[in-house]
Amino acid sequence: MAVSLADRAAKLRLTEIFASLQGESTRVGLPTVFVRLTGCPLRCTWCDTAYAFQGGEASTVQTVIDEVARHGLQHVCVTGGEPLAQKSCLPLLSALCDDGYSVSLETSGALDIAGVDPRVSRIMDLKAPGSGEVDKNRFENIACLRPSDEVKIVLADEADYQWACARIAEYDLARRCTVLLSPVAGDLAPSTLADWIVRDRLPVRFQLQLHKVLWNDARGR
Ligand code: SF4
Repeated sequence: MAVSLADRAAKLRLTEIFASLQGESTRVGLPTVFVRLTGCPLRCTWCDTAYAFQGGEASTVQTVIDEVARHGLQHVCVTGGEPLAQKSCLPLLSALCDDGYSVSLETSGALDIAGVDPRVSRIMDLKAPGSGEVDKNRFENIACLRPSDEVKIVLADEADYQWACARIAEYDLARRCTVLLSPVAGDLAPSTLADWIVRDRLPVRFQLQLHKVLWNDARGR
């Protein structure tokens, strides 16, 4: 059922909308419009978007969609912060799908993902111990992952890697969807993580954050 006019008028707190290349996931490299919603209940030690924790501008679902349309791209990524912390994120995602976009959602894995429109590809984090937020993982989410979703685990050290290997085995994650492993920039050498993955024949996809390679993580790129 199409999103109602009332849902399109629902209020959102917005940090920024910008066009760039997708830096992560299997959509890496695709020109994409990013919608960054404000606020996050987590505080990962290595967070690179702390500027989205507070502030932002009051907006509505339709205003966001109008701004997305202005950029003239097919792919849209709704991110944060933790976008699901705002209840109007759900109608925003559905309205973007209704309007014909290819939509992905970046979420921390700490909140319930079951209500997300099934047309959306959910890129869900699992937080390893080095994040400082391992207790926030909502492992019940794993049961509702689909092949079009992806699980991302960011690793700060070897203990995080061992934790990720254990969770991949425990939940048979690689049979559910693509599993992405990334090193924390400056903490874990990318080549070290790559060597571990090859050594252990781990059924995952290694990734570096393309936007950091290209633009050194500048805001809005
Ligand atoms: S969940 Fe994401 S936005 Fe929130 S603190 Fe962690 S890395 Fe930052």
